[in-house]
Amino acid sequence: MNVFADEATEERGENARLSSFIGAMALGDLVKSTLGPKGMNKILQSASNSTIIVTNDGATILKAIALDNAAAKILVNISKVQDDEIGDGTTSVCVLASELLREAEKLVTVQKIHPQTVIEGYRIASKAALEALEASALDHGSDEKQFREDLFNIARTTLSSKVLAQDKDYFANLSVDAVLRLKGSTDLEHIQIIKKVGGKLTDSYLDEGFILDKTIATNSPKRIENAKILVANTSMDTDKIKIFGARVKVDSTGKLSELERAEREKMKAKVAAIAAHGITCFVNRQLIYNYPENLLAEAGIMSIEHADFEGVERLALVTGGEIASTFDAPEKVKIGRCDVIEEIMIGEDKLIKFSGVAAGEACTVVLRGATSQMVEEAERSLHDALSVLSQTVKETRVTLGGGCAEMLMSCKVDEAARTVKGKKALAVEGFSRALRQIPTILADNGGYDSSDLVTKLRAAHYEGQADAGLGESRLGSMKELGVTESYKLKRQVVISASEAAEMILRVDNILRSAPRRR
Ligand code: ADP
Repeated sequence: MNVFADEATEERGENARLSSFIGAMALGDLVKSTLGPKGMNKILQSASNSTIIVTNDGATILKAIALDNAAAKILVNISKVQDDEIGDGTTSVCVLASELLREAEKLVTVQKIHPQTVIEGYRIASKAALEALEASALDHGSDEKQFREDLFNIARTTLSSKVLAQDKDYFANLSVDAVLRLKGSTDLEHIQIIKKVGGKLTDSYLDEGFILDKTIATNSPKRIENAKILVANTSMDTDKIKIFGARVKVDSTGKLSELERAEREKMKAKVAAIAAHGITCFVNRQLIYNYPENLLAEAGIMSIEHADFEGVERLALVTGGEIASTFDAPEKVKIGRCDVIEEIMIGEDKLIKFSGVAAGEACTVVLRGATSQMVEEAERSLHDALSVLSQTVKETRVTLGGGCAEMLMSCKVDEAARTVKGKKALAVEGFSRALRQIPTILADNGGYDSSDLVTKLRAAHYEGQADAGLGESRLGSMKELGVTESYKLKRQVVISASEAAEMILRVDNILRSAPRRR
């Protein structure tokens, strides 16, 4: 027995397995109500009540909850990996893994099948499922028009279950335009998202170029064409007296003005060194101060000070420059370029727009919305859509959503079960039932009779309607409704969920190390 809380603890055999099953199932139950177009949102409140997030993004929910169950943590990890690698499908992967474990629990505890046998059955099943998925995937990568439609449909499907669902066509087009600009790259750094509370969601728009959430210094030129930009991270205030608020004792006012003069001379020399780069715009991560700003303006150089770190990094990237901090060797500094720099207004705010940047693919999405929670959630949704689309541009195959792909796999796994001998066959069937839970949950979340709908869906697939699914929780052709999903996403969901289930099934011991003693 563990008397002292700070001792190492151990759970063995059945107990360890049971606590893993329960943890994983509880986590699946927590997120499954968010799955699909009719999924519900969750409010995440920070411990201090200072931040509130309203979301139905699986990865965001899972990141926010504190867990002490090891198996539940494994599911959180797979959903995080899914988010990093594909950008969406985070709820699906967690739900499928937890359903696989629910089935496994019945097989192990009720039917007394050894976990190793369940694992063997699951492996056969996941192979059959992946083969069926691959065989059903469609590829329109070589037909530009059709492929754009696939991308549009994928974006719509991803956005269907998010805050942008109301305006999914609008945002689907916007995401496709943004991703196609990347010309096959998956580097989403080139797509900047600017959030500005105010207006409505459909006031959001895609703009070419780069927008910096800053204002141009008062005396500076306000518009520059054919700009040569030096992006820097340098302290213009060479004398640190102001920064640290230190006191300097001087015995005469003459000494003071001498100090000031020296300071101004240093600033002047620095501005001269900067201007020697032949630039027309100087963007600094740190403050520039009045005097250097005036000097720069006299030289016809626009100055922009105190830009945030992410801002300067992206600006350097998209204008083809590099962030500089020393100015003694202009030939070593990479200057950025763009056609026009000018001030623009978004709502009530002034911002700076860099058009015609060197990286032609770069663009900015300006997101508008009534509240900050709305704009934040819109950003998460858009990020998911952009990630999935950029992955689909690389792996162009697509599959059908609305539980269609899962039912298709489930039918093939059932077929495979008939060829398997012994108790393993029961595990293969269990895998197939877990797959069917995806359409079941989609229907349940819509408030429909899931057993009726899923039975009909299954029958439709057995009758050869390979594109049948639950679009908006009605049985129908997913092809006609355009409920398309990325093949890579679905494949990864099945692979990751099976691997996680197998890993948890192998557990027969949970050792908790004691907290480190000080
Ligand atoms: P995830 O985080 O796993 O992407 P979502 O909440 O986004 O979870 O839900 C995705 C599921 O919703 C997928 O199974 C997808 O096929 C389904 N889905 C999305 N749009 C529709 C739709 N219009 N009709 C039916 N199902 C849909």
